[in-house]
Amino acid sequence: MTETIFSKIISREIPATIVYEDDLAIAFTDINSQAPTHILVIPKKPIPKLDDCTESDQALLGHLLVCIPKIAQQAGLSDGYRVVINNGNDGGQTVYHLHLHILGGRQMIWPPG
Ligand code: AMP
Repeated sequence: MTETIFSKIISREIPATIVYEDDLAIAFTDINSQAPTHILVIPKKPIPKLDDCTESDQALLGHLLVCIPKIAQQAGLSDGYRVVINNGNDGGQTVYHLHLHILGGRQMIWPPG
C-alpha cells in the first residue's frame, strides 16, 4: 500500500496532536476541524478503507470502536458525539488509511452533507 500522511503520523515523521495511543491504534486531532472537537482514530495497520477489511480485521475493528468512548470521555464529550467513516470516492474519503472521525462539541444535524 502507498504511504499516506497518516502512516507518517504513526511513524512520527510528521507532527500531530496525539490524544490516545495503544498497540493497535492511535488518535489525533483533525487538522481541519469540522466541529469544536474533531478527532481521528486510526489503526496502526495500514488498511486503505473500510471496503478492504476482511474477517481477519474483525477484532481490530471492534478495538477501534471500543477505544472511542474512552477518547470521547477524555475529550469531555459528555453530551454525545458522532462517529463517521468515509469510504471511497462517493463517501468523501480523502486519506486512504482507514479512519474513524469523532465529531462533537456542537449539535450535529441529519442528514449529513
Ligand atoms: P476523510 O475525508 O474521511 O478521508 O478524512 C481525512 C481527514 O484527515 C480530514 O478531515 C482532514 O482534515 C484530515 N487530515 C489530513 N491531513 C491531516 C494531518 N496532517 N493531521 C490531522 N488531520 C489531517
